[in-house]
Amino acid sequence: MLKYDLHCHSHFSDGGHSPEELVGFAKQAGVDVLALTDHDTVSGLNSLHEAIQKPEVNLQIINGIELSVRWKKYDIHVLGLNIDKDAPELLQLIEKQKNCRVSRAKQIAEKLEKIGLKDAYEKAKRLAAHGLISRPHFAAVLLEEGITSTMQQGFDRYLKRGKVAYIPTQWANLEEALRAVKAAKGVGVLAHPLKYGLTQSKLRELIETFKAWGGQGIEVISGEIMPDQVALLVKLCQQFNMYASTGSDFHHTMSSRIKLGGQGTLPLNCTPIWQSWAV
Ligand code: AMP
Ligand code: MN
Ligand code: MN
Ligand code: MN
Repeated sequence: MLKYDLHCHSHFSDGGHSPEELVGFAKQAGVDVLALTDHDTVSGLNSLHEAIQKPEVNLQIINGIELSVRWKKYDIHVLGLNIDKDAPELLQLIEKQKNCRVSRAKQIAEKLEKIGLKDAYEKAKRLAAHGLISRPHFAAVLLEEGITSTMQQGFDRYLKRGKVAYIPTQWANLEEALRAVKAAKGVGVLAHPLKYGLTQSKLRELIETFKAWGGQGIEVISGEIMPDQVALLVKLCQQFNMYASTGSDFHHTMSSRIKLGGQGTLPLNCTPIWQSWAV
C-alpha cells in the first residue's frame, strides 16, 4: 500500500521549509505520494517537481492548493487536489486572493500598531520572504517582539476570530473556489472540517453546499486527529457519498507537532480520494 500525504505547506505560504526540504522529509518518512497545498498559491510546485528529478528520489507529486474561502461568517479551507497549476481560471482566482491577502495584512498591521507593535506590516513581510503574508507571520512577529510568548498566544489574544486584529476577509466564496478547482481539472476537498467551530448541523449544511457546488471530498485524517473525530468524518463521507482524504497539514519542524507523512492512515470503510484520479 502506498503512503499518501495530501496536505502540507512550504515557505511559499506559511510553512517553514523549501519544497526541496519537503522532498527530503517525505523520503525520511517513506511517503510515496505527496501533495503540496500552499495557501492560495501554486508558486512552490515548480521547485517541487524539479526536486524529484534526482534519480534517488522516488516520490510522486500531486499538484495542490489550499484556497481560503468565506462561507457565512466562517473562514473555510478548500483543498484543490490533482490540479492543472497553469489553468487560467485558477490563476485568476489566485490573483484575486493575493490582493485580498495584501490588503488584509495591511489592516491587521494597523490593528497591531494600535497595541504598540511598530512597523508590523514590514516585519511580517520580511518573515514571509518567499510568499504572501499570512497570520502565522504576524504571530511570529508578536513573538519576536516579546509581546507574546508563543505563536499560539498570538492567535488566541490577537489574531483569531473575535480578537482585536482579526479582519473579516472577502475571500472567494465556495462556488468560486470550487469552480476554479474544476476548471483546473482537480477535485475539491473540504479541509479539516472539525476546525471551524461549527455545530453538527452547520457542518452538515456546509458539506451539503460544498457538494452542491461540485466538491467531492472530505479530509478525514488531518494532522493529529482523535479516533471519535475520524469516525464522525467517515460517517459524513458515507452519508454524503464523498471521497476521503488524508494529510499531515505539516508546516514546520519547529512548530508542527506532527511530521510530514506522520498522520494516521485512512480507515478502510471510506473511499480514498486518489480513486478519483486513478486511471
Ligand atoms: P491565514 O491564511 O493568513 O488566515 O492563516 C491561516 C493559518 O494560520 C492556518 O493555515 C494555520 O496555519 C494558522 N492558524 C489559523 N488559526 C489558528 C489558530 N487558532 N491557532 C494557531 N494557528 C492558527
Ligand atoms: Mn497554514
Ligand atoms: Mn487549513
Ligand atoms: Mn493547511
